[in-house]
Amino acid sequence: MKLRSTIHLYSSVLFAVLLILMNLFIYAVFSRMSLDSQLGQASAETARIAAAMRKAGDGVTAPELLRAYVPVEGMLRLLTVDGGGPAPVTSASGQEISRLKPVYHPGKQAERVRVDGRLYAFVSVPVIWTDGNVLNVQMTKSLEGTMDTLRVLRLVLAGATLAVLLPLLLSGRLLSGLIMRPIVQMTATMREIQRSGKFRRLPLKAHSKDELVEMGHTFNDMIGLLESNYVKQEKFVSDASHELRTPLTVIESYASLLKRRGRDHPELFDESVEAIHSEAVRMKEMTEQLLLLAKHPEQWDLELKVMDLEELVRSSAKAFHNAYGREVTVQVKGSPEGYSDEAKLRQLLFIFLDNARKYSDEQITVRIEAAGQERMIVITDRGIGIPPEELPKIFDRFYRVDEARTRENGGAGLGLSLAAEIAGAIGAELSMDSTVGLGTSVTIRMAADRRGGGQ
Ligand code: ADP
Repeated sequence: MKLRSTIHLYSSVLFAVLLILMNLFIYAVFSRMSLDSQLGQASAETARIAAAMRKAGDGVTAPELLRAYVPVEGMLRLLTVDGGGPAPVTSASGQEISRLKPVYHPGKQAERVRVDGRLYAFVSVPVIWTDGNVLNVQMTKSLEGTMDTLRVLRLVLAGATLAVLLPLLLSGRLLSGLIMRPIVQMTATMREIQRSGKFRRLPLKAHSKDELVEMGHTFNDMIGLLESNYVKQEKFVSDASHELRTPLTVIESYASLLKRRGRDHPELFDESVEAIHSEAVRMKEMTEQLLLLAKHPEQWDLELKVMDLEELVRSSAKAFHNAYGREVTVQVKGSPEGYSDEAKLRQLLFIFLDNARKYSDEQITVRIEAAGQERMIVITDRGIGIPPEELPKIFDRFYRVDEARTRENGGAGLGLSLAAEIAGAIGAELSMDSTVGLGTSVTIRMAADRRGGGQ
């Protein structure tokens, strides 16, 4: 069953049941109260009649007395202990009750009795008659008047229930429609996205606070995220294939050269192998970086903790010196304790040290500084620098400041974008200062402990 029909059915059935139960309750209470009050009235009336008959008992005969007090619809009877006494007097409309078997009651009795499907109030009151004998004054009085009122009440309540149920069914349908509309729209939009392959959003009231509109906004945000990821991915794939094409072309052309003329011109061999080797190394590095970039930071297995930054920087500088033969000076000002992930911070350091190496020939310095709850690692080189207008773009994937100057150094323009991604994952902040011809300095900012890191 559709959700709309389910909501409609459940709300209607629930309301209808509640309404019927409420009306049944009203009817039960009202009918009980009216019948009890009628019985009370009959009781009081019988007691009054008994007193009046006893008073008048001497001068008037019993049948006359009975005739004088008989109710409009009912019967009045005087009954002796042995069940005898004068014949009961019955009103014209209540003949069938004269067939009721006379029963003597020693105490006062008041009850409802049913004769031929009609309801009566029966009251028996014991009185001491003028001759000293105890008699029962028994009155049986029709309750049909009250039953008629109750019948009308039943009709009115049933009518009212029906009258309320009809708009209730309609409003239930309207309500379920209202709830389902955004969901139906959402499904249609999703189908449209699936069919056309284009990202679409739901048209929504901007300022509404209702949950369904909020759900719509969440849906739109999600579509926005999917769209931006999709665009990024497309760009990434096209950039990656574009970037890989150049080294592949170089390798292919040198390989063809060797194939055609390598045997006759051995002097070509060294140059070709060198070019093929360096392009292959470049491609290997690029694919490694691409693979890391394609991974989500959540899959990186981070282990954030308070650690000794000095030790990390010194060991990285040593490893770097051994690999490239470049001197790195380490300076420490203030506490060297910082909150980070060791492996990722080391990777970050290597990216910046590598750039410092590629774009400078002089000394490289790494400073560790402390300011309150903040720790900084500053990597400074005295190299070629970056023009100020290029600074905002260098963290983009595959962005290189100057194709000519970087190609010979073998960079693919991926190092800094990877650095930005790593910094984001370990909660570090990156900033870069550079002056063309003077050099560049990169600052990695992080918290001193867990509280500052907000993890
Ligand atoms: P690459 O692998 O090409 O070095 P990066 O993303 O690491 O890619 O850097 C992007 C560009 O920023 C580089 O091409 C380079 O021109 C510039 N750059 C990065 N670091 C420095 C630096 N320390 N000195 C001068 N230029 C730099």
